[in-house]
Amino acid sequence: MLRITDILDKTQDYLSPEEQERIEKAYIFSATVHQGQVRLSGEPYLTHPMEVAGMLADMKLDAATIISGFLHDTVEDTLTTIEQVRVGFGKDVAFLVEGLTKISKITFGSQEERQAENFRKMMLAMSSDIRILLVRLADRVHNMRTLDFQPPGRQLYIAKETIELYAPLANRLGINWMKVELEDLAFQYLNSEAYLELARRVAQSSEKRDQYTEEVRGIIRAEMEKFDLNVEVDGRAKHFFSIYKKMEEQHLNFDEVYDLMAFRVILDSDQEKSCYEALSVVHALWKPVPGRFKDYIAMPKANNYRSLHTTVIGPHGQRVEIQIRTRAMHEWAEEGIAAHWRYKEKRPSQNDDAEQIKRLRELLESQQELKNPREFMSNLKMALFPDEVYVFTPNGDVKSFPKGATPLDYAYSIHTDVGNQCIGAKINRNIVPLKYQLQNGDMVEIISQSGHHPSKDWLKYAVTSRARSKIKNWIKTEERTKSIDLGKDLLEKEFKRHHLKFGSFAKSDEIKKIFEEYKLNSLEELLVSVGYGKLSPRHVVRLLLPEEVTKGDDASAEKQKRKPPSTAAPGISLTGIEDVMVRYAKCCDPIPGDEIIGFISRGRGITIHTAQCPHIQEFDSDRLIDVQWNIKEKHSYPVGMRVVCRDKKGLVAELSSILSSLDINISHAEIDTRPHDMQAICDFKLDVIDLNQFNAVVAAMKKLKSVISVERIAGA
Ligand code: MN
Repeated sequence: MLRITDILDKTQDYLSPEEQERIEKAYIFSATVHQGQVRLSGEPYLTHPMEVAGMLADMKLDAATIISGFLHDTVEDTLTTIEQVRVGFGKDVAFLVEGLTKISKITFGSQEERQAENFRKMMLAMSSDIRILLVRLADRVHNMRTLDFQPPGRQLYIAKETIELYAPLANRLGINWMKVELEDLAFQYLNSEAYLELARRVAQSSEKRDQYTEEVRGIIRAEMEKFDLNVEVDGRAKHFFSIYKKMEEQHLNFDEVYDLMAFRVILDSDQEKSCYEALSVVHALWKPVPGRFKDYIAMPKANNYRSLHTTVIGPHGQRVEIQIRTRAMHEWAEEGIAAHWRYKEKRPSQNDDAEQIKRLRELLESQQELKNPREFMSNLKMALFPDEVYVFTPNGDVKSFPKGATPLDYAYSIHTDVGNQCIGAKINRNIVPLKYQLQNGDMVEIISQSGHHPSKDWLKYAVTSRARSKIKNWIKTEERTKSIDLGKDLLEKEFKRHHLKFGSFAKSDEIKKIFEEYKLNSLEELLVSVGYGKLSPRHVVRLLLPEEVTKGDDASAEKQKRKPPSTAAPGISLTGIEDVMVRYAKCCDPIPGDEIIGFISRGRGITIHTAQCPHIQEFDSDRLIDVQWNIKEKHSYPVGMRVVCRDKKGLVAELSSILSSLDINISHAEIDTRPHDMQAICDFKLDVIDLNQFNAVVAAMKKLKSVISVERIAGA
């Protein structure tokens, strides 16, 4: 069993005495809070954080990382709070432990292979500092080493999670030993039959193999010495999982795969050119197999792996794979990003550091899924994917969104209908408003209601182009549909005035005249143009009829206006037009009884103004249409009234008692007294049924002695 003294031994040549002391303090803290807890193996719980911290010390990581190894389970599994960690060990450690607590909640729920990459990205996104991920990986290695004590179902689950999630992450960080160990341990549980068979066959042939290995190593070393190249030669079996994968993927049998032996030639020199010299020595010694040479020095792998690879026909006609690399390249290959850390500690040389960081950035950039690593490697505190956020679906799948995305973006990512009918969302089972911004690790459920539809406001919250275009599309379609209806109604009305039928005209060839004139392609386009107010119905008719007929147009329009409205519409009749979008202009507050006029507003139906409204002059007269009131049921309409009177006590009470005796509601009142002439100006907003009622109010007010004048005002 590992002891704290072992860990201090591991760290003493690269950490200061103060740092060593803090590590010891973390050990004592961990021992205290985990006291009494035992692992499934029956060992005290402390063995686990101890092993994790030990692994991090072997990787020569900094003090904060090793301390976090000791503390990584304290907040999750004991009564310890983040605050206590902060007070005891500082901000840096607290940040790491908090991150570790968060990512410990990511469990690989999905059975779908294609989801694995999303989980890996979520994990990277939530490891806002790469050290969090390093501790998490060490944690997983130790849990895998002791997986035997878990029940079988759990073993399979953890092994699968390890092979899908953690081994690829270790690979991405370039930490080969971890990747290899995690894969082989997981393989043991996932396919124990294949594993045992492989292990048996490897053991069987190991004696023969060891002899051969010794022979090849001896030849290489001797030959390199002749050329003054100092090397270490390392020959060993490929790891089980990689043999297995190769057999599966390339449909090879064991002997075919196992025959290919791999040797590593590690040069003492740190010169790249020594690698090429060593390569030429090997190629002079044995015949290379064509097409098997790979130069990962000139073209490093995505995870920054650098080496020369070649396959030769070795002694006894055996195929032998040889990898050639410098010591630094080797360290990177084995420990990846963790080796970078060590470089930082050991070699303060600016250039070297900058070069390493550049490489690391390149490596991360070269992986297309890592989209925005811009600032991220500055001093190794990296926020990966700063512009993305990863959330869970209720099934445990992971979806990614741009930062700032809301439940609306999520809803539209499921289906357009889900988006259109979205009324809210639950995040981690709590209801949130639509403007809520999704956070990494959130579990999202959408609440929708059939019949509900998008509003323009939604464009303030939706950030994904998919959601935004769907919302815009819906609004546009909605406006277009309404405009088609309106255009049709307007044209039918105009035709009727000339005793024509728009319906039969639309079917006749004559309509082509209109299409040509206005460069339209279809009936629908014509209706939309009229409905949007781009084209006046009067123009359309004029184009079709001989001039004499349309000459008296204005007169006949006058006549028409006087005719009683023929159809029912909510408050407004357009002599023949039903159910159009009607809004009452706020500038003049028309009320039933007023002479009114309609204005076709672009895509928003008809706005009703009073005939006296000063704004009408500003409007395009072709977009004005005749409208009349058609009141079936009584509604109240807002109207403004200004009463000027002599300022006297009890005035307001008097005015309002008149209003209430007439059963009129005041929705707003503003009274301004003018002391210099002893007058008061009272502005009211009233709800009235029609002009008659309003006039009755005015008459009643005027009877009061103190009232000087009463008038209707617009837009009060
Ligand atoms: Mn743990």
